[in-house]
Amino acid sequence: MTNFIVKKVAVLGAGVMGAQIAAHCVNAKVPVVLFDLPGKEGTPKNGIVLKAIEGLKKLSPAPLGNKEHAALIEVANYEDDLAKLEECDLIIEAIAERLDWKHDLYKKVAPHISANAIFASNTSGLSIGKLAEGFDADLKARFCGVHFFNPPRYMHLVEIIPTPDTKPEIADQLEGFLTSTLGKGVVRAKDTPNFIANRVGVFGILAIVHEAEKFGLSVDVVDDLTGAKLGRAKSGTFRTADVVGLDTMGHVIKTMQDYLPNDPFAAVYKTPEVLAKLVEKGALGQKSGAGFYKKVGKDILRLDFATGEYVPGGAKAADIVARILKEKDPVKKMKAMRESTNPQAQFLWAIFRDAFHYIAVHLEDIADNARDIDFAMRWGFGWTVGPFETWQASGWTQVAQWVKEDIDAGHALSSAPLPAWVFEGPVAEKGVHTPEGSWSPKANAYIPRSDLAVYKRQEFRAPVLGSGEIDGRKAGTTVHEDDDVRIWHSGDEVLVISMKTKLHVISPGVIAGFKKALAEAEKNFKGLVIWAADAADGGAFSAGADLQSALPAFMSGGAKAVDPIIKELQDTFMAMKYSNVPVVAAVAGLALGGGCEMALHASKRVASIESYIGLVEVGVGLIPAGGGLKEAAQRAYKEAKGTDILQFLKNGFTNAATANVSKSALEAQAMGYLKEDDVIVFNPYELLYVAKTEARAMFDKGYRAPLKAPIQVTGRYGWGTIKAQLVNMRDGGFISAHDFKLGDMIAEIVSGGDIDQGSFVSEQWLLDMERKAFLELLNHPKTQERIMGMLQTGKPVRN
Ligand code: NAD
Repeated sequence: MTNFIVKKVAVLGAGVMGAQIAAHCVNAKVPVVLFDLPGKEGTPKNGIVLKAIEGLKKLSPAPLGNKEHAALIEVANYEDDLAKLEECDLIIEAIAERLDWKHDLYKKVAPHISANAIFASNTSGLSIGKLAEGFDADLKARFCGVHFFNPPRYMHLVEIIPTPDTKPEIADQLEGFLTSTLGKGVVRAKDTPNFIANRVGVFGILAIVHEAEKFGLSVDVVDDLTGAKLGRAKSGTFRTADVVGLDTMGHVIKTMQDYLPNDPFAAVYKTPEVLAKLVEKGALGQKSGAGFYKKVGKDILRLDFATGEYVPGGAKAADIVARILKEKDPVKKMKAMRESTNPQAQFLWAIFRDAFHYIAVHLEDIADNARDIDFAMRWGFGWTVGPFETWQASGWTQVAQWVKEDIDAGHALSSAPLPAWVFEGPVAEKGVHTPEGSWSPKANAYIPRSDLAVYKRQEFRAPVLGSGEIDGRKAGTTVHEDDDVRIWHSGDEVLVISMKTKLHVISPGVIAGFKKALAEAEKNFKGLVIWAADAADGGAFSAGADLQSALPAFMSGGAKAVDPIIKELQDTFMAMKYSNVPVVAAVAGLALGGGCEMALHASKRVASIESYIGLVEVGVGLIPAGGGLKEAAQRAYKEAKGTDILQFLKNGFTNAATANVSKSALEAQAMGYLKEDDVIVFNPYELLYVAKTEARAMFDKGYRAPLKAPIQVTGRYGWGTIKAQLVNMRDGGFISAHDFKLGDMIAEIVSGGDIDQGSFVSEQWLLDMERKAFLELLNHPKTQERIMGMLQTGKPVRN
């Protein structure tokens, strides 16, 4: 085995991308030095970089998992610090998109790049081959493109663009680092203008503008049609363009225009007149207050293409078209769009046709195989389904025939015919995605998935529609399955429980499932992992206890009837904590309320960097009653190590009393919901592998459950001290009377109640207090108002 471990990264350019890439390195505990030009005379030498780092703390969505880590980015400039490059084994250039400027910088830095370092440019679309001109053969062999998407922490895609000179192992090593350490989804692209995602994505936008004009649709209707209803970004097309910036959009289009004069779609690669006019006027989108939309007071106006004026917006897709888009069967859906006489439906068929036409014509030039185009669009543009996947799911041959008819009839955006492989040979029979792999026109074969070692860490790879892979919902041997849970394993000594409820809320069925899983794991496995089959798709770990399912008991028997349900939840979490085999919570996404408490009671947590963890019960007028407050008290006692427990209690109290939710796993660690030795995973596809590895290792090391030990509490002293602060907040009008009551109850529980300071209590004592308070609140009209509000509108009621 040969390790490739990046010890230090240098990022050249502290602009939008460079600074955020550096931030993500810090998130992943990779030391990073961030360079930019030296400040002008009379200003601090590292002024540009320092300002960029300040900016990182304010940016939303946050590039840093923990804002305090901004200080860990080392600052540098090209005048004083080039020697620092010598320590770096990966150098990412992210300066302004100008070939001449990049070349100038390369001349300056090249002598300082260490002999084995990888050098890569984050250019959006310049030729990597051209960028490498002037390098010696050795540096050429270590140079490639590494195209991150904005915002780099959140966008899964990174395109690696090797040149013919790039040594294959360089690209492989980089892919390993990007995939596992930074958690990205890597696609290899060919060195063609704008690479894959921007090439296909920007063409798609140009096609949408073109067809919208042709079918006379307004920007608001187009956005409604091309947003969530198509499984794409909610902001649709024009609103997204406003957010990206219309000038930026113009640059990307210009790259295509300048570098692709002989492309069969070249006629489309020009800045649409409407866009050119907006840019001319300085209406650059969100940053300048106007673009395709303009906010005036509370109203959002839309641009009227015909007059260039802003008029009232907010129009939606026609009902009949919205109904077509709800059709589950993709074959029927595509047919309905094509056959409908409604202009909106015809528009939709036209934009699909244009996209299919484009990717078929260009697949051979821009990508290795069809899978890479689908991943690029899913991970770089946020489409839930890639264009080849949609085509294949809608009936490969029939759709191909329709596209051909439109090309022949002159309806398409280019007269270029579809390539022969669309109609002949294996693709005509099986489509582009098959169990063997995905179609590569160049190889004239189906290309299987990459078998780089890093992918052994992904038990389930990102699925490709049509390839027939079994995913984590069905794979392995099922030990038990019902509507609420699946308990299963892959023959690797670790049992897995996956919740199946919506947002994986904890229903009585889930509790029953956990009991079964614990018994089974203790008997036959080395450990139990709690893992959501949709963890890599942004699914929740668990959004908490299933309030709805407790309603019937409450309606018929009042709060008393809910008592056994809560007791059962507490008992099950305690059984997890004291299980004889380790229970590992594989957390990703939301872990709220009972979901947070479930994670807290696991023997260990393996959490995706994108973990949003918190005790949010006060939002529905309740307090945590699944052991969350008990855990806060216990943690404070342990951390205090004989000193003033109250100081350590404040964090846990505030988290629960303010329903604070972490915005990353790193923040969850700072909040105390994750422990120092819990593991943070950057690639959500690795979560299950790492969790299982942990469970097995814990067992193999001779796992013993913790001993039940009494907890020392602050008693009425702690309760009283916190309460005094709450009184001030209430009397100052900062919190409502009901918030005060909830805060007071939380303070009482985490302090152990009306007992002497320094008393020892059992876990059960604290759990009983939680339950009692919870039941009392259920009868409170203000709490009932909050619960009903949440169930009806999904939003917290402030009362
Ligand atoms: P930016 O304009 O925000 O930052 C560019 C940085 O380059 C600035 O900090 C500037 O000081 C520095 N710079 C300017 N001229 C320079 C020179 N002559 N020598 C050295 N440094 C110089 O740009 P950005 O948006 O971060 O883009 C950086 C690179 O990343 C570009 O190649 C761009 O195409 C690419 N990219 C951008 C995005 C995006 O959405 N912004 C996405 C992917 C890739």
